[in-house]
Amino acid sequence: MGNEEKSLREMPQLLPIEERISTFKEVNLGFTEEQVKKEASRCLQCPKAYCMAGCPANVKIPKFINAIRQGNYKRAIEIICETNSLPAVTGRVCQVEMQCEKACILGRKGIPVSIGLLERFVADIALKRGWKRFACDAFNGKRVAVVGSGPAGLTVAGDLIKLGYEVTVFEALHKPGGVLVYGIPEFRLPKNVVEKEIKTLEDSGVKICTNFCVGKSITLKEIFEEGYDAVFLGIGAGAPVVLDVPGVNLGGIYTANEFLVRTVLMKAYLFPKYDTPIDFGKKVIVIGGGNTAVDSARVAVRMGVEEVKIAYRRSVEDMPARREEILRANEEGVKILQLVNPVRFIGDENNHVIKVELVKNQLTYIDETGRSVPVPIEGSNFYVEGDMVILAIGQKANRVFTQTVPQLKLDKEGYIIVDYEAKTSLERVWAGGDIIRGSATVIQAIGDGKRAAASINKTLMSNNI
Ligand code: FAD
Ligand code: SF4
Repeated sequence: MGNEEKSLREMPQLLPIEERISTFKEVNLGFTEEQVKKEASRCLQCPKAYCMAGCPANVKIPKFINAIRQGNYKRAIEIICETNSLPAVTGRVCQVEMQCEKACILGRKGIPVSIGLLERFVADIALKRGWKRFACDAFNGKRVAVVGSGPAGLTVAGDLIKLGYEVTVFEALHKPGGVLVYGIPEFRLPKNVVEKEIKTLEDSGVKICTNFCVGKSITLKEIFEEGYDAVFLGIGAGAPVVLDVPGVNLGGIYTANEFLVRTVLMKAYLFPKYDTPIDFGKKVIVIGGGNTAVDSARVAVRMGVEEVKIAYRRSVEDMPARREEILRANEEGVKILQLVNPVRFIGDENNHVIKVELVKNQLTYIDETGRSVPVPIEGSNFYVEGDMVILAIGQKANRVFTQTVPQLKLDKEGYIIVDYEAKTSLERVWAGGDIIRGSATVIQAIGDGKRAAASINKTLMSNNI
């Protein structure tokens, strides 16, 4: 971000670096009220709001910013919650540079309005003051089951409870929230914020059953037999992808899934208060370039290890992680080795990893995804010391549920196939979020949830099922 942008756009308060690297406290502290007023005054109130088209939840951005300008935060949160049930979450983790802020007219000059941080400010005030965010219609006689309590499932629950449906969410884990509670670390998304946001849904009538794995505790058929009129599948893509290179089974090598579940959800960093031991090394190498890789590296920093390196196969500019988080990771001392691939993990006499052999890559032609294809440079191999390795190279579809329903149409990678209304191949079954598109973003999952909820409502009401 250049100096011109800094002078025009309000910059959020940040926790000092020395405090960050030894705690899990939130890093981005958001705006003060004075900053909120200044930033809101930058909005041009465009009659044709391109920013809204950039938001998959279709938040009425100019309208809520106008309410902020009038000092009416209560109205602002009501406007946001007409279309978004998780604003304190999205205001923190949305990839705004790829969504609403990318589409903002001021953004065309590189200095968009800080829409995400304005949203976060009003959402936090609403949570603090316990404001009711939306009203619900009287019970309409229909019952909907939601499988999975990530942002996709919670959105369906929020949209349908407003319309008078009885909604029950079934969650396999002991806490609701999906990746919001077991993936994204506390210092980016405090868990009490997620809990409060979920509580507002429960207060509106959404029932959440945790420790309830659909496919094991109950089958899809049994859900319908219990009288539910429709089912939404928001089961995420939580199975880890493992590298196929020699030495990958050595001790000290973790998938990012396991590492983050142990640290973020089961609070290994508070051992022995929380009984989740994890063997942190001194030199940590994270393989990957997405949000998961950067989050894992920043968690490792906070565990007091000597050195944390990220090894990524393309260039830093190509890393899919949020720009802001890459910047923060650099500030916190994480080194990024770009254009490298692991070819072998080397262990000691106890079969514990001590080194990684990497090969340098060069970027070649652009493939259909629009990114350059990295190709190893022969003879460029080198070694990096590392006694803990975290594999953050992606997630894939978890088949625990889908294999119990052979009639459900999946693509060759195991993702559920849906039509433009999020309908699956099974009658009265919808799906959305990572389980239909692979690892994506919170706001895309929310967008899918909205599409599905609208279609469920249209189907159940028009057919009078
Ligand atoms: P999930 O959030 O995966 O939730 C699915 C839920 O379904 C889980 O709770 C799971 O336990 C449950 N479930 C699965 N099977 C069953 C079953 N059979 N019965 C009952 N419950 C079941 N996106 C961003 O926009 N910004 C970020 O900064 C960002 N950072 C990320 C950092 C990490 C470490 C990770 C892993 C992802 C990140 N993402 C980010 C991506 C984002 O979190 C996901 O795209 C999003 O959470 C997907 O939502 P979902 O509802 O589809 O699934
Ligand atoms: Fe922007 Fe996300 Fe809020 Fe939509 S939900 S306005 S994309 S921050």
